[in-house]
Amino acid sequence: MSKFKIHNTLGHKKEVFIPIDENHIRIYACGPTVYNYAHIGNARMAVVCDLLVRYMRSLYPKVTYVSNITDIDDKIINTALESNIPINELTSKYEKIYNQNMSALNVLQPDVQPRATEHIKEMIELIDKLIKQNNAYIAEKHVLFDVTSYKNYGVLSGRNKEDQIAGSRVEVANYKKNSGDFILWKPSTDDQPGWKSPWGRGRPGWHIECSAMSEKTLSLPFDIHGGGLDLTFPHHENEIAQSCAAHNFKESKDYAKYWIHNGFVTMDGEKMSKSLGNIFLVDDLLKEYSGETLRLALISTHYRQPLNWNSKIIDQAKKNLDRIYRILKEVEEIPLDIDIPASENIKEALSDDLNSSKALFEINLIADKLSKCKESEKKFLKSSLISSGKILGIIQDSPSSWLKYGSNNDNIDSKMIEELIEKRKIARKEKQYTEADNIRDKLNSMGIEIEDKNDDTIWRSKN
Ligand SMILES: [Zn+2]
Repeated sequence: MSKFKIHNTLGHKKEVFIPIDENHIRIYACGPTVYNYAHIGNARMAVVCDLLVRYMRSLYPKVTYVSNITDIDDKIINTALESNIPINELTSKYEKIYNQNMSALNVLQPDVQPRATEHIKEMIELIDKLIKQNNAYIAEKHVLFDVTSYKNYGVLSGRNKEDQIAGSRVEVANYKKNSGDFILWKPSTDDQPGWKSPWGRGRPGWHIECSAMSEKTLSLPFDIHGGGLDLTFPHHENEIAQSCAAHNFKESKDYAKYWIHNGFVTMDGEKMSKSLGNIFLVDDLLKEYSGETLRLALISTHYRQPLNWNSKIIDQAKKNLDRIYRILKEVEEIPLDIDIPASENIKEALSDDLNSSKALFEINLIADKLSKCKESEKKFLKSSLISSGKILGIIQDSPSSWLKYGSNNDNIDSKMIEELIEKRKIARKEKQYTEADNIRDKLNSMGIEIEDKNDDTIWRSKN
């Protein structure tokens, strides 16, 4: 099988993945700032990293995946103030919702999910080092990173310091030496959360959080750092600068060797944004669609491409899953052999920079084969299909429950549906076809699709 090739933002090219330690792969991805609901763009990042982790687990004996929780941030402080609730209540509420939403999308819980507020000590130590080495300075109770002190600044994003100055729309605080200098530590007023530090009571800036937490949980260097495209600059650029400067690393890859960034989710070609009012929240989408459907829609496009989010791709994903589960339903009685591995074709597709659309195409080919194969081949093909689906995080549900209940089973009166189906069966037996068709239409209008199979009728929600 081909070696895993990954597009490395550091260097901007596809490279063969060479692990730092092949017995233990270490991956970090920036997690959510927990002050509101996750949107589909956040979900794409989590699903892409989950796909990477699942695939790496199919190749290597041990993978540690860390994704943090940012639970201290000005947006959190402001939201808590506006909604008049304690900060920890706000953050724990949205951390819980985030994890529930991601779990509904079959995103496996990260092995470690460090919280920023639990790593203040490590952040202070790192900032202290940066000050001592003249990479950071204190100005008006703030500690700032001096971007001119780190020669490789801009290596990830390709942006140079001059670009930043020209492109800076934010008013530059007068205590900054250079407009691109960023905050490592800032003072807190008495009513703001804060921690004691050598520079007074205050709180960390966002970028230093990930540098401190990745080092603490994975040690440096680690293999892969992931995140959404919008994090490339300044967040990831700043992470590299802080960590490499603090440890006197010669090369940027001495912090993290490979950087992957997933493309934006767009709506009719426009980037999702609050001001355009086109943000889709995962929590809302999950009321209408199953998490597995949303996941398939998210991985139907290659992770680096922009993903145009619309009802068409969700419907296609739903239809695709219905079809595969229908094929699996036919072989429900055939025992599963968990020792049969995922198809080599699926692994081959993913080895090319996680080509999930190609992998899905291969999944559908196996499903096709399974629907037409000889009895003697069924066990192998079914097992291979399910093992392959596991790497993609799909088709792990029981076909009966998927086909019967579709997604929003809470709103469905199953008993009434079964009664109508029974009535229709009797009508058909008595050759009262108009009556039978009327019942089918009625079910249809309730959002229930039915299918006659031999003597049985199966139904599912169309959502
Ligand atoms: Zn981060």
